[in-house]
Amino acid sequence: MIVRVLLFELVCCGIVLLSAGEAAAQSSAEEKLRALIIDGQNNHDWKTTTPLLRRALESSGRFTVEVATSPPEGKDMRGFRPKFADYDVVVSNYNGDRWSAATEKDFDAYVSGGGGFVAVHAANNAFPEWPDYNRMIGLGGWYGRTERHGPYVYLDDSGKLVRDTSPGPGGHHGPQHEFQIRVRDREHPIMRGLPPVWMHTKDELYDQLRGPAADMHILATAYSSPEYNGTGRHEPLLMTLQYGNGRVFHTALGHADYSIGCVGFITTLQRGAEWAATGKVTIDVPKDFPTAKKSSSRD
Ligand code: ZN
Repeated sequence: MIVRVLLFELVCCGIVLLSAGEAAAQSSAEEKLRALIIDGQNNHDWKTTTPLLRRALESSGRFTVEVATSPPEGKDMRGFRPKFADYDVVVSNYNGDRWSAATEKDFDAYVSGGGGFVAVHAANNAFPEWPDYNRMIGLGGWYGRTERHGPYVYLDDSGKLVRDTSPGPGGHHGPQHEFQIRVRDREHPIMRGLPPVWMHTKDELYDQLRGPAADMHILATAYSSPEYNGTGRHEPLLMTLQYGNGRVFHTALGHADYSIGCVGFITTLQRGAEWAATGKVTIDVPKDFPTAKKSSSRD
């Protein structure tokens, strides 16, 4: 009898444990954030970089990721109509033809209605003549951007924000190199716990970006050195923006596979996407994060 009771208890216990385990697995799947990467046109190698962005997000354990690929340049875009509203965050790796009016309206409604949006590198080259898109990203470059699109925005040596309305083209970079990223808001959830300065892997250092830069908050800058044909200014490279009820994280980093492999890029992408989706950050700073002097990459 005693043996039977013990067995019964063991079995019950086992069942209870199994159920608890299953429930935990289920709830963690439910808690994952849904991310959508947009690609299909870019003057960059999106076929290489989208899988890396996807892996960066998935490796955090925080996201499930799907990809929406547009038709090629010059083709009919009317069939490209991702269901933005099904996702917690949309990550753009897109720089190409305008979307259909319906898709652009959907996207505006999604972000302004409280959706999360992450713009990666040349996504800030896209859509110069879509004013609301320029408001979402705050700053952009190339493709005919000028003073018409907004001021140049940067920090001076004392850390003061400058909005320079002088005329001229928007968007420039010198030769690619490794450069230091300087955190400008150590208390922001995306940046909390990161070293104040870290060495980024080889990348383009975008400078002379211009745009409305309304409701824009600069998280990090890099010094654009004249040695590398730069401006001698501290250029904003990681930003957050508010667009209606939506949160936007803008990283101007990420030119190529070796730039996206930087642990600093990966960590800020993961945390920026989580913040854009939820307003909070739970993703830890990894042990292999770069230091001020030494960059750190993952394959
Ligand atoms: Zn680039």
